[in-house]
Amino acid sequence: MLSHVVPPLKDKSLFKQECFVDGEWIQAKSGQTFEVQDPASMKTIGTCPEFSKEDTEIAIAAAAAALPSWRGTTGRQRARILRKWYDLMMENADDLATLITWENGKPTADATVEAKYAAGFYEWFSEEAPRVYGDTIPATVPGNRVVTIREPVGVCGLITPWNFPAAMITRKIGPALAAGCTIVAKSPGETPFTANAIAELGKRAGVPKGVVNIVTALKNTAEIGETLTSSLTVKKVSFTGSTPVGKLLMKQSSSTLKKISFELGGNAPFIVFDDADVDKAVEGAVSSKYRSSGQTCVCANRIYVQKGIYDEFSKKFAEKVQGFKVGSGYADGITHGPLIHDRAVSKVESHVKDAQSKGAEVLVGGQRMPDLGTNFFQPTVLTGMTADMQLASEETFGPVGALFPFDTESEVVALANTAEVGLAGYFYSRDLQRVWRVAEALEVGMVGVNTGLISDPASPFGGVKFSGFGREGSKYGIEEYQTIKTITFGGM
Ligand code: NAD
Repeated sequence: MLSHVVPPLKDKSLFKQECFVDGEWIQAKSGQTFEVQDPASMKTIGTCPEFSKEDTEIAIAAAAAALPSWRGTTGRQRARILRKWYDLMMENADDLATLITWENGKPTADATVEAKYAAGFYEWFSEEAPRVYGDTIPATVPGNRVVTIREPVGVCGLITPWNFPAAMITRKIGPALAAGCTIVAKSPGETPFTANAIAELGKRAGVPKGVVNIVTALKNTAEIGETLTSSLTVKKVSFTGSTPVGKLLMKQSSSTLKKISFELGGNAPFIVFDDADVDKAVEGAVSSKYRSSGQTCVCANRIYVQKGIYDEFSKKFAEKVQGFKVGSGYADGITHGPLIHDRAVSKVESHVKDAQSKGAEVLVGGQRMPDLGTNFFQPTVLTGMTADMQLASEETFGPVGALFPFDTESEVVALANTAEVGLAGYFYSRDLQRVWRVAEALEVGMVGVNTGLISDPASPFGGVKFSGFGREGSKYGIEEYQTIKTITFGGM
């Protein structure tokens, strides 16, 4: 039986069941709402407005009205507000973590790390906002002088997923606001309350009305996507989510030729060479694979282990996974919570069954956990994986560590690169030449060498191939929300 007690928020006014538009908390014009479920207990947490095209257009108009004065502020002024917002998120990290665990399910310790990581994007971009430089360019035309300035792109539409209810939205709002843009964000239907609490903290930090607008929907999700992508007022769409939805939004954005950036699905290879420190590689693989129960876009999906160390690695890896404790994210000692919904569990189950039917062996787990609830699945280890199995070509997005034996470096690099996506890739090796060679050969946007954790507000985050394009975080993140204007002075 699941023992699941949701702790009270220290500041109950952070729990908002409305949408934040033009500085006010409001309901949908239709009065319609949708229910949000706690994935652990399946109880209703609360309701949020079911926004429509009309409601979203009001939010877009608010962002457009706020744009001239927001873009007219100095970088330093915007930085002060972002910094204050960061401070408030850090001060309220416990409440943010409580909300993240409530609606997403991840254990409170992980939720706290996420809340602080999410705040880190406001800190980082508060530091970037005053440092937006242009160029002076020696012209080739006699008498001309050329300079560039960077301008905010304008009103931005942001769409984010549920797996990091705080960090996915701050990773977009931070650079957008730093650049001088105003935003309409559609938060995920599964996890809207964390985003709402962050918006409320933004209000308290002094974000002017209309600069940040948050809309919610469940059944009208596609309608909102279409409203944002087809709007002539919205100049940029930034989306984090699955590749199929990314492709749809790209198509929709073509009629208005929007600037777009897409952080899409992954299927990360995690390669362990014979020359690796096996204990460290096991640790890295476990943390990469099972964080948030494997529901991260950068998590190891295919763990390739060279044959000389395969048995040792499998044994140690399985031992670690056997030590996990699954249950309520609020309970002491729990390492893993539920998956987000039954669809996610079904996908994990189908990948495990498919692998078993093609000859893989289950070393640990492999089953649903009905005693705990419909959304729980055992942390699982599969061995003897082969390239024809579903998991090899599809993102599992669940707690399944799948071990593939391999012989040679060239073989494994080719296998790693068969994926149509290319977000993150990892490998463990102590051979310096190999480290450079393989880091360069992997077709991904981010490589972890001798580490399973690569996320940092200071590092560019993004993918290649069907994982999308554009970079978030880092000094590059702000460029996604800017355009370069060239100014040529003649007759000098
Ligand atoms: P999803 O694509 O179904 O949904 C993501 C968001 O888009 C949600 O808010 C959803 O409501 C919204 N959405 C869905 N259909 C839409 C439409 N037609 N128009 C507008 N919005 C729409 O993805 P998901 O299953 O919620 O999230 C998991 C996926 O996200 C995985 O593939 C994962 O790899 C990816 N992801 C990528 C990154 C990254 O940085 N690359 C980070 C986290 C998650």
